[in-house]
Amino acid sequence: MTRLSHRFATTRFAPFWPETVARRPELPPLSGSLRCDLAIIGAGFTGLWSALKARERHPGARIVVLDARRLADAASGRSGGFAAPSISHGVTNAAGRWPDEAQDLVRLGRENLDEMEADIRAYGIDAEFERTGKLNVAQTRWQIEGLHAMQASYARFGVETAILKRPELAARLDSARYPVGLFEENYAFVNPARLVHGLARACLAQGIAIHENSKVTAIRNDGPDLRLVLNEGALHARRAILATNADLPLLARLRRAIVPIYDYSIMTEPLSEAQLAAIGWRGRHGVADCGNQFHYSRKTADNRILWGGYDAIYHFGARRDAELLHRNETYAKLEETFTATFPSLSEVRFSHAWGGVIDTSARLTFFSGTAFGGRLAYALGFTGQGVTATRFAALSMLDLLDGVQTERTGLRMIRSRPVPFPPEPLRSLAIGWAQADLAREDRTGHRSLMLRLMDRLGIGFGS
Ligand SMILES: Cc1cc2nc3c(=O)[nH]c(=O)nc-3n(C[C@H](O)[C@H](O)[C@H](O)COP(=O)(O)OP(=O)(O)OC[C@H]3O[C@@H](n4cnc5c(N)ncnc54)[C@H](O)[C@@H]3O)c2cc1C
Repeated sequence: MTRLSHRFATTRFAPFWPETVARRPELPPLSGSLRCDLAIIGAGFTGLWSALKARERHPGARIVVLDARRLADAASGRSGGFAAPSISHGVTNAAGRWPDEAQDLVRLGRENLDEMEADIRAYGIDAEFERTGKLNVAQTRWQIEGLHAMQASYARFGVETAILKRPELAARLDSARYPVGLFEENYAFVNPARLVHGLARACLAQGIAIHENSKVTAIRNDGPDLRLVLNEGALHARRAILATNADLPLLARLRRAIVPIYDYSIMTEPLSEAQLAAIGWRGRHGVADCGNQFHYSRKTADNRILWGGYDAIYHFGARRDAELLHRNETYAKLEETFTATFPSLSEVRFSHAWGGVIDTSARLTFFSGTAFGGRLAYALGFTGQGVTATRFAALSMLDLLDGVQTERTGLRMIRSRPVPFPPEPLRSLAIGWAQADLAREDRTGHRSLMLRLMDRLGIGFGS
């Protein structure tokens, strides 16, 4: 196993965000047999937004949320907290895949972020929401060309951005690695664990039951209802929502639609104003570089820097194990790129390091649909950009369960399915091959024949 440097001597190998939330007793697991109108499997962003929005629509309904773990233990509590004004994994992805409805997807993404901010305020959730913008930075000639193409693509949809070079760029981020940047004003950030707990508190205040450590092992027909089977009991529900993200989907038909991809972050100790001034990072915006293997970076409320991404690890057979949530090799690589980007911080220690699992779909956006004759709705496949899209997905699932036609349910993005991943061993070979080609493109600027073929077939791979 890779040995980590002295900068990890006091690191906690656990996500930082849950430490910013007041400890509270466990919500008791479900036991015995219960009945409800709406059962929600999964208490991450998708499940909790579904519960809260269902309550707004159906004030008298009995709503029960079940989670296999504790709140914020899965992707939602481990994320970077970048809150994109997008439901389609960005403007370029929307324009490439659904050119006819891209304008609507871009508008709906922006509306969703505005409405999410309004909801957070209306429910009094202290999620440290701040709309401080995102700086995309480029390192190589082809990445700089990519930034200009990105700006042109954004402009087609009325999204204002600014290309920054020195000295303007150095006023936002001063790193010799990045000569050019593109600044997006309309981009927000949240403390993701505070958002999970805030949503859960809002749900509980609205009379919604939440049970932690309550793993659903199967879903069965039960006359006109559904029966959710648990080790210690059962939940009978008129309707159900499946919001289980990167875990093994309970519906067999969804198993090849996503693959679990492991993504990792390291975080510095709180930095002083002088240390931040030395790297020119004056505002509270986030930063992302624009390779295929990209880093994302942001500040916490107490001025730590989160540095995440780059590696996107798939394990043969879609392994999902707690031990895979740490990877020294990736932490060491992240330390190396962090130091190359910010040499003046080469002695700063890392307070936290952790990993999480991303539900990658081959089109990089979530998809939604129904099963059990329209009594169960699901939404999966957020692919590393679910902090905001999960709210939109929740509304889409409720539309589907209510049987109402809305702009959301009419979208091709919602109605179509991603290309399934092939079975093993072909899957590992294909992912390994695509990743090697993506890394080569980062080094040389050359997009391989296979990647171009995948583009034409609408197949993407990312995190
Ligand atoms: C390291 C990392 C960084 C990320 N950074 C960002 C970012 O900066 N911006 C962004 O937009 N997105 C980011 N994402 C993606 C984003 O976090 C997810 O898309 C989003 O949190 C998904 O929410 P969710 O509720 O669907 O999933 P989760 O939060 O994973 O919740 C699913 C829940 O379902 C429960 N569950 C699963 N199976 C069962 C079962 N059988 N019975 C009961 N419960 C079950 C799980 O325990 C889990 O709590 C990141 C993801 C990771 C892993």
